[in-house]
Amino acid sequence: MKGKASILVILFVLHCQSFLCSSQDFDFFYFVQQWPASYCDTRRSCCYPTTGKPNEDFSIHGLWPNYNDGKWPQNCDTSSSLDISQISDLVKRMEKDWPTLACPSGDGVKFWGHEWEKHGTCTSLHQHAYFQSALELKNKANLLQLLKHAGIYPGKFFSMESIKRAIKEGVGYEAYIECNVDTQGNHQVYQVYMCVDKSASKFINCPILPHGRGCGSRVEFPSFSHHSNSKHEL
Ligand code: 5GP
Ligand code: 5GP
Repeated sequence: MKGKASILVILFVLHCQSFLCSSQDFDFFYFVQQWPASYCDTRRSCCYPTTGKPNEDFSIHGLWPNYNDGKWPQNCDTSSSLDISQISDLVKRMEKDWPTLACPSGDGVKFWGHEWEKHGTCTSLHQHAYFQSALELKNKANLLQLLKHAGIYPGKFFSMESIKRAIKEGVGYEAYIECNVDTQGNHQVYQVYMCVDKSASKFINCPILPHGRGCGSRVEFPSFSHHSNSKHEL
């Protein structure tokens, strides 16, 4: 009996550890997309991927599990790293929709690996499902298309209200917009946060908004097609 009890205790502890390690214990996801021209201005430099200059479109930053109180788990399984052979069928789409803009230029694998290790390991999804879910969410919320539909084109300034309204009307849920400030002091649309349910497939109303850099009432939506040099330092 004593032996059985201690085995149970050991099993319970192991279970708890694995539960903590590859935690499914979160409340919702932030699906975060970045506007490439603003990333380049924010970081003061950017490098186009070795696979070529990305299209002028929003691109994925990450799919991040989060708690309702604003905190989040991260790096939940340090023994798990991205195995590119598991997502080889997704790589072409990832290069298009999840390009890396950090310097030095890369093919994206380092960025995707970082996102998997930091955020993906805290979900209950396997690597393939994690990346595929993010790609599908991007298709579901075609931000650039719905902004253009509302007359909001890159290369100009717009009211924050009009941008928020266009997303609300196009996706059906409110998004949180994070801005950066360029060298001239203009607020620029930098990242768009959307909330997603635990199944990583449906947009939801955000339980809590991220605390980030807010935006002024008038913001720049800078052009990326006119952004020509791959390494531009300000
Ligand atoms: P930053 O400090 O640039 O806003 O965020 C740095 C990194 O911290 C992000 O790329 C992301 O990995 C993580 N992070 C920042 N804010 C949040 C958040 O609200 N939720 C989650 N899950 N991760 C976040
Ligand atoms: P997070 O901020 O998600 O924790 O970390 C993002 C990490 O990925 C940083 O180390 C950053 O240098 C790297 N990274 C590589 N490419 C990109 C990119 O295109 N956008 C962002 N936000 N980070 C990138």
